Amino acid sequence: MASQQPLLEMRNVHTYYDNIHALKGISCSIPAGDIVCLIGANGAGKTTTLMTIFGVQRASRGEILFQGQPIQDLRPEQVAARGVAQTPEGRQIFAQMTTMENLELGAYLRTDQEEVVRDMENVFTLFPALKERRHQLGGTLSGGEQQMLAIGRSLMSRPILLLLDEPSLGLAPKLVERIFDTILEINKGGTTIFLVEQNAHMALNISANGYVMETGQIVLADKASALLENEQVKKAYLGE
Ligand code: ATP
Repeated sequence: MASQQPLLEMRNVHTYYDNIHALKGISCSIPAGDIVCLIGANGAGKTTTLMTIFGVQRASRGEILFQGQPIQDLRPEQVAARGVAQTPEGRQIFAQMTTMENLELGAYLRTDQEEVVRDMENVFTLFPALKERRHQLGGTLSGGEQQMLAIGRSLMSRPILLLLDEPSLGLAPKLVERIFDTILEINKGGTTIFLVEQNAHMALNISANGYVMETGQIVLADKASALLENEQVKKAYLGE
């Protein structure tokens, strides 16, 4: 089922916060079925890139194509309806709702209730800790469990493309490994993943391709295996 058309393509996308020029002509391409990562220092514009794809921030210029269709003028709920889910940085789960209610929210656009129940079971298989805590309020979960819940909630929409913002942020090393294993499992299940990470090593290890961002621009794009060997990347992002 190989197709030449990328699942997502950004063409020369510019985004501003008032007069701050956060994205200065971003172009990238996410093939269907792959994990692609976006790495870079704090403030480079990684989160803004995901927010712009999802329609939370408006692209002032350029094009964003999803399955060949322009989406740069759509609102987040319209982007979601096309099959894109976003797991924002910092988790942002609903503290006063139970684990199950948070997961159900992820499926709010769906009408196939039986499949929703099955997908919730799948989330519990991926994250057994969430099953144990399914009746517990989100706010009482640990940081790692909240991160799992945020990812699980995104999966409940059965996304074609999952935008993951810093899933390993603030997690203990053991949990970081678990999260990356889970990202691989989610991808094996058929979901394409655009992964923003400061943990460049782990991100490049599970990705097919990677982009490196500096001050609003893509400065390097290559196969992840090549970026892992790139001297500039090693020095700046891999601590070698
Ligand atoms: P981090 O890893 O710290 O989240 P990032 O690479 O995701 O960094 P962005 O959060 O996208 O970077 O920020 C890109 C630029 O836009 C930075 O200069 C930042 O200060 C600015 N910026 C981000 N959000 C806003 C906002 N809501 N209002 C104004 N400026 C913003």
